[in-house]
Amino acid sequence: MPMTFLIDTSRCTACRGCQVACKEWNDLQANKTRQRGTHQNPPDLNPFNYKLVRFAEYKENGKVVWYFFPDQCRHCVSPPCKEAADSYVEGAIIKDPKTGAVIFTERTRLLKPEQVEEVISYCPYNIPRLDTGTGILAKCTMCNDRVKRNMLPMCVKTCPTGTMNFGERSKMVALAKKRLAELKKDYPNAQLQDPDDVNTIFLLTEDPKKYFQKVG
Ligand code: SF4
Ligand code: SF4
Ligand code: SF4
Repeated sequence: MPMTFLIDTSRCTACRGCQVACKEWNDLQANKTRQRGTHQNPPDLNPFNYKLVRFAEYKENGKVVWYFFPDQCRHCVSPPCKEAADSYVEGAIIKDPKTGAVIFTERTRLLKPEQVEEVISYCPYNIPRLDTGTGILAKCTMCNDRVKRNMLPMCVKTCPTGTMNFGERSKMVALAKKRLAELKKDYPNAQLQDPDDVNTIFLLTEDPKKYFQKVG
């Protein structure tokens, strides 16, 4: 039984604890950054940020409204990134048969630049990032090292609000359906994002497009 995240964005306060915990556990280097008029920082996923809390801000009926989206790899059920990489370098991207984690290995460094571009373009969620220093493709690992020892992914363990949930797929799908039914009462546009295709299921209160604003 694969493991699955349920990310219930209706509970997210954008504290960014998950983002910091991910960086710490994976020993990822700091990014040089600057104030861009938003709390979304760094401005996008990068090879040293596998997790990024996105902030989208709107003025609706004279009031400021926020949408928070703790972005990360979806650990797709049939990962298109792996399909692309497999045709060039065996073992560059693997899927753990036990946990379902999709892992980018050091062998991604053997992909030629145009092949890297193809792998990136195959991802429907714009997740893979190239470390230009090492030539390795990077993204969330599902904290597979922890999960295989029956520990929670670091972002889930850290989240104080119940936004980040993790467990066997059947349990997470059941929880997703239950929470969706509850949220529908107050948010008629509430929806699950591609639940049949991914093992990172986002529960949203609005159209997915509302959660993404380009940060300059
Ligand atoms: Fe691959 Fe993108 Fe799916 Fe992650 S979200 S498994 S990078 S295709
Ligand atoms: Fe980061 Fe691990 Fe969470 Fe993935 S599962 S976003 S690697 S903390
Ligand atoms: Fe949202 Fe939880 Fe991450 Fe805080 S730790 S930003 S509440 S998902």
